[in-house]
Amino acid sequence: MAIGYYPRGCLQGGVELPATGPTWQVMRLSRNRNWGHADLVKFLERFAPLAAKATSWKGILIGDMAQPRGGPLPFGHKSHQIGLDVDIWFMPMPDRVLSKAERENVLASNVVAADGKHVDDKTWSPADVAFIRTAAEQPEVERVLVNAAIKKELCRVENGNDRWWMSKVRPWYGHDDHIHVRLKCPADSPNCRAQPPVPGGDGCDKSLDHWFTDSILRIKIPEFGGSSAGLKLKDLPAACTAVLNAPANPASAATEDRSQPR
Ligand SMILES: [Zn+2]
Repeated sequence: MAIGYYPRGCLQGGVELPATGPTWQVMRLSRNRNWGHADLVKFLERFAPLAAKATSWKGILIGDMAQPRGGPLPFGHKSHQIGLDVDIWFMPMPDRVLSKAERENVLASNVVAADGKHVDDKTWSPADVAFIRTAAEQPEVERVLVNAAIKKELCRVENGNDRWWMSKVRPWYGHDDHIHVRLKCPADSPNCRAQPPVPGGDGCDKSLDHWFTDSILRIKIPEFGGSSAGLKLKDLPAACTAVLNAPANPASAATEDRSQPR
C-alpha cells in the first residue's frame, strides 16, 4: 500500500523491480531504490516494451523508484516516498547488459541546452517525443514531469488534434536528463493522498512563460529536485511508524541488508 503523500509517506509491501528485463535495465543499483507499489512495477513491465516500440530503442534505463519501504530518501528527491514515482532516463538502453560498474557510472544524457531555454539539438531527438507521449498516454499515469524547455519543445512539435495527453506533461525544475513518471493512487491504498488534478488544456500557455524568466532559470535545484533528508518519522503519517519499524521479511532481507548495516 502507498501511505501518505508523494513527498511525505511510505510504502507497505513494496515490490522489487528486477534489475534487468527484456526491455529495461535499472541504473544505480547500489542505491537500492528499485522498489515500488505493485502497480508501479506492473506499469514499468508494461511500459518498457511500449516505449521501446515507440522510440525504436532497445529498451529503457530506469533510475530511482523508492526504497523497499519508501519513506524520505537520504539524498536526491523530495518525492519518491510512496512507491508511485519513477525516473526514466533520456537515453536508449544499449544492446547489452550493463555491468554493475557501468550502472553506477554512466551519466544520463542531458537533452536541454545550456541556456535552459531550448532542447539541445545534439542530444534531443524525435524519439524523445514518442517516449514522453507513450508515458503520458498510459491510464495509470497521473503526470509526467519534464524540464520546461522540453515542455516548450513538445508544444512546438505536437500541434495536432490528438494531444489530450499533453495536459499530463508538466514542467518542473531539473528533469533535463530524465522524465519523472508519477502514478495515481492505487485502489488498494485508502491512505494514499492524491495530488490535485492537473489543470486541463495542453499547458502551452502563459503559465509556461514564467519558467523562462531569469529568476527561475537561475534556480539550480540539486541533482534531482530537492531532498527529503530533513523529514523525521514524526513528520510522516502515523501508519508509517509501523511500516518503517517492522522487521524485514525473509524474502527481502537479503536485499535490504545491503543498505541497512546493523
Ligand atoms: Zn523523480
